[in-house]
Amino acid sequence: DPRLQAISQAIRVVPHFPKPGIMFQDITTLLLDHKAFKDTVDIFVDRYRDMGISVVAGVEARGFMFGPSIALAIGAKFVPLRKPRKLPGEVISEEYVLEYGTDCLEMHVGAVQPGERALVIDDLVATGGTLSAAISLLGAEVVECACVIGLPEVKGGRDRVVFEVGGFPSRLV
Ligand code: 5GP
Repeated sequence: DPRLQAISQAIRVVPHFPKPGIMFQDITTLLLDHKAFKDTVDIFVDRYRDMGISVVAGVEARGFMFGPSIALAIGAKFVPLRKPRKLPGEVISEEYVLEYGTDCLEMHVGAVQPGERALVIDDLVATGGTLSAAISLLGAEVVECACVIGLPEVKGGRDRVVFEVGGFPSRLV
């Protein structure tokens, strides 16, 4: 796909953020490039428009930057999966293990009905822990998870990565 190289180049890599040794993949520069941003959303929309998806769930915070555009274009609703104590209504929670410590995602009760077909969106997959927590939390039929970036050097995530754009070959695993 000729669009992938420009998408990849629009993602800035910031060394030593948020801590020493981390090469942070910064998608805010992709959002500044209208064509690359639109192409990214279009690649997802082309893939998901005819899959009977009624829910797009975005992972806080960068899943919120891509998910709603995809949801609107494919005729689905958007459900935010948020960090703890952000949502005002009754929530269900899913805790997950990070490299150091744990984190948690929350979703409003009733946002998704049993049997609905869902797509999970985030900006980046590394170990796949965040996406796995999102799948458990949704309790719906998760058709696929999709990210802009998959970190190939991080082991453990490959078996859970689903679809990614951003310069790496798109793949289903
Ligand atoms: P995982 O749970 O797959 O190990 O990590 C993925 C989560 O960490 C995603 O929610 C993603 O936003 C965040 N993340 C980890 N490293 C980076 C990075 O370098 N850049 C960005 N944009 N997000 C990252």
